[in-house]
Amino acid sequence: MKADNNCLFCDFVSGKWKKHKNEFAFEKLYETELTLSFLSIDFPSPKRVHVLVIPKKHFVNLQDCPKKVLHELIEHVVLVSKALRLENDGTNILLNDGRGAEQTVMHTHFHLVPRNKRDGIEIELWKRVNISQKTYSNLNKKVKKLIKNAKKTK
Ligand SMILES: [Zn+2]
Repeated sequence: MKADNNCLFCDFVSGKWKKHKNEFAFEKLYETELTLSFLSIDFPSPKRVHVLVIPKKHFVNLQDCPKKVLHELIEHVVLVSKALRLENDGTNILLNDGRGAEQTVMHTHFHLVPRNKRDGIEIELWKRVNISQKTYSNLNKKVKKLIKNAKKTK
């Protein structure tokens, strides 16, 4: 896919933009042939970083990425997570896939946030609701059907 003309991440990759929106210098943390990582300027706490891992080419959603890109993305995510785990007890690995999931930059990207117990970061804000066993069973059927249908579309 061609680079999007209005994509900040594509501009980072090409070197057209050298600064984040707040004027902080854009720095590559690590790169492979097809992927790149850098620090987000959205810090979850003063002591915690927030790393983004992206494909170098412009893909809006994860499902748009070819297998080779997906493979490198996951390996890159694992490497960064491993690095963060050298000084932390865990990592939240998130990907907001689509506008309905709060994706704001339409160039697919993984978020990695190193975590420790009682660090005050509230990623887990959603409240768990109780559902019946019948609803649970119906939802299982529904999602299985969706997966079956998704496999048919390429
Ligand atoms: Zn892009």
